[in-house]
Amino acid sequence: MRRILWFRRDLRVYDNPLLSLEGEVLPIFIFDKNILDKLPQNDARVTLLFSLVNELKNRLQNMGLDLKIFYSTPKDVFDTLPLENFDEVVASGDYDEYAKERDREISQRIHFRYLNDTYLFKPKEILKKDGTPYLVFTPYYKACLAYIETKGITEEYQRVGQTLYKFNYDVNLSLESMGFEKSKIECDLHLEELDTFFTNIASYAEKRDFINESATSNVSVALRFGVLSIRDLYRRAKESKAGDAYIRQLIFRDFYAYLLFHFPYLAFSNYKGNFNGIANEEKFLRICKAETGVPIVDAGIRELLQTGNMHNRVRMIVASFFTKDLLLPWQWGEAFFAQHLFDFDAASNILSWQWSAGTGIDPQPYFRIFNPYLQSKKFDKDAQYIKKYIPELRDIDAKYIHDESYLLGADITAYPKPIVEHKKAAKIAVESFKYGEYRDV
Ligand SMILES: Cc1cc2nc3c(=O)[nH]c(=O)nc-3n(C[C@H](O)[C@H](O)[C@H](O)COP(=O)(O)OP(=O)(O)OC[C@H]3O[C@@H](n4cnc5c(N)ncnc54)[C@H](O)[C@@H]3O)c2cc1C
Repeated sequence: MRRILWFRRDLRVYDNPLLSLEGEVLPIFIFDKNILDKLPQNDARVTLLFSLVNELKNRLQNMGLDLKIFYSTPKDVFDTLPLENFDEVVASGDYDEYAKERDREISQRIHFRYLNDTYLFKPKEILKKDGTPYLVFTPYYKACLAYIETKGITEEYQRVGQTLYKFNYDVNLSLESMGFEKSKIECDLHLEELDTFFTNIASYAEKRDFINESATSNVSVALRFGVLSIRDLYRRAKESKAGDAYIRQLIFRDFYAYLLFHFPYLAFSNYKGNFNGIANEEKFLRICKAETGVPIVDAGIRELLQTGNMHNRVRMIVASFFTKDLLLPWQWGEAFFAQHLFDFDAASNILSWQWSAGTGIDPQPYFRIFNPYLQSKKFDKDAQYIKKYIPELRDIDAKYIHDESYLLGADITAYPKPIVEHKKAAKIAVESFKYGEYRDV
């Protein structure tokens, strides 16, 4: 057999199904112009991706293989490859609409086989008895656990001896030759901290929401690019005997990809309710510039802009404030996060924003609205996180930082007053979502 191994979201050699297939292989990676041409010159993800792809090339070369790296559209790359010399192309499944269409197009030219790698389960593996997809997480989760028990799908893929198909292509790509510059925002993949995380995994459930506890695994970026294997994380959590809460979150990630696969329209449209917020550029700019005057929200946005990351609890607070207090369309927030998150993943991002807006498939109701002040009081009690990102508040006592009436009344140098009064904004949101149109109170 002779195969093209198309690396995409699986940039590693360990536990990679692509490297478990015997025969002659041509490993490739495509910097996809269809995606890259829409990104700004200093996009931090491209800098990261460029270094990860080159690291993978080195590793493959150390194994006697190589990685041919292209900067083009997949269609043009497959036009230049001698497809008649290959039996098939293999790649890990990728389930957003663009990816599905891209792969469909290539599959018309050469036999195309998906190997499951990015997620634990294939989207059609876990279905209800009537053959339809699950809509609620808990029964899906239980079905997933049962499936693992019976099918053993979390085994490690062992590398086999593969020989390299000789293909004459030696273009030396650089970030600059693709029209990008090295980003100033560096991404830490947190791989060295993983052992410590698994040692302390028993406290994950209790501490994961506390912003300053560093109690989460920080693997989302490594998972996004496939530097870590999802099966390996599952195995490590399982071995620890105290990893159930963590495994649940890993399966949550699968669930979101599963929903987007089965209901692709969720990328743009609500599942429930027809109220979609009010377009308001001024409010949108205020939140994007971290100028809402609500400390936990502004701290989250600054963290995102400065680091390309945001703690999960803060993402939830920001998204609730965005869609409810500011009544902005969830799609705007989703696009803003997509632009800045290192771990941006279409499924997790879209479904999480729909969850926050109360418009998604999950049972989250529109009237569940986070109070950002109570949230920060609980999860950032001493305002350590807030003060880290908003030094303008460094000299203010934490208890005032969590106190809306203080912030509405005080004149704080270089920091704005809250853009809305939470209780009133929340009432307007509830009425508007209830009646499907803007309702003042
Ligand atoms: C509005 C919003 C947008 C989000 N956008 C993204 C995104 O684009 N990409 C992304 O990977 N995650 C997204 N998330 C989910 C979550 O915030 C991140 O996965 C998490 O912060 C990553 O940190 P961690 O690896 O330390 O997580 P841990 O708590 O250590 O969890 C381990 C892994 O489980 C998965 N996971 C955990 N929580 C969730 C969740 N709520 N939903 C889906 N998967 C989860 C992630 O892959 C995560 O890396 C979003 C959440 C919200 C509320």
